[in-house]
Amino acid sequence: MNKLYSLEQNQRRRTAVPVGRIAIGQDFALIAGPCSVESEKQTILTAQLVKDAGANMLRGGAFKPRTSPYAFQGLGLKGLKILAKAREETGLPVVTEVIDPRDVGWVSEYADVLQVGARNMQNYSLLKETGKSGKPVLLKRGMTSTLDEWLNCAEYILAEGNPHVILCERGIRTFETYTRNTLDLSMVPAVKEISHLPVVVDPSHGTGRLSLIEPMSLAAVAGGADGLMIEVHYNPAEALSDKDQALRPEQFSRLAEKVLTLRKFLGSLDNAHAPV
Ligand code: PEP
Ligand code: MN
Repeated sequence: MNKLYSLEQNQRRRTAVPVGRIAIGQDFALIAGPCSVESEKQTILTAQLVKDAGANMLRGGAFKPRTSPYAFQGLGLKGLKILAKAREETGLPVVTEVIDPRDVGWVSEYADVLQVGARNMQNYSLLKETGKSGKPVLLKRGMTSTLDEWLNCAEYILAEGNPHVILCERGIRTFETYTRNTLDLSMVPAVKEISHLPVVVDPSHGTGRLSLIEPMSLAAVAGGADGLMIEVHYNPAEALSDKDQALRPEQFSRLAEKVLTLRKFLGSLDNAHAPV
């Protein structure tokens, strides 16, 4: 049986997911913002700075899936309200994680895109609920998941009648310890070979190292990624989660300039080689 995620099943037409004024898959998604929503000041200031640098979407977690139950768990509803305010002030659509199927309904009232995190990739009841929500879903690859498993999780969402799935490669567990995860960029062209769904890359969780985020972002764009998701904090030293991988706004700004220039250059090559 041909699956809904397959390129063949979709008559080889690529899906573009509408989010605010952009369509991810057609337009490049530069998603940036803090790991966690910590306060109104932190979120709105960071949102303004990433927007000025060229980001077209804001990220920020209000529900955090933390390794330790004693670590900061996120602000919940208060965090969602802050994200809604940041959207109002900047015009940036918001992507935020939902970790519990029971929360999908009301989180959907605040989010433009629902994120299913790596730890929840195979939470089938969560996938079904996000499928029913009708909201675009950003589905992260599980840290020990194969491409086939990942695409089958996308299928759970598509099978509920929601065609708006964005895949996100965020690194997998390997024996390597220098990086937080091993960012598997081969998944970008691999996804495109067999699926019509757009795929974005998260080099922040994918490497966990500040110095590697820019080079891996450029590599992702060169490999055909439809977007990037990058953690930025106006003052990383103060961050309540993932402070070691948060770019300062000026670092993000330099990255954004290079990424958008590279993307434009590659687009001009495609146009030059388009059949007449
Ligand atoms: C996140 O993006 O905030 C996050 C927790 O990422 P991941 O699910 O990829 O670990
Ligand atoms: Mn994080």
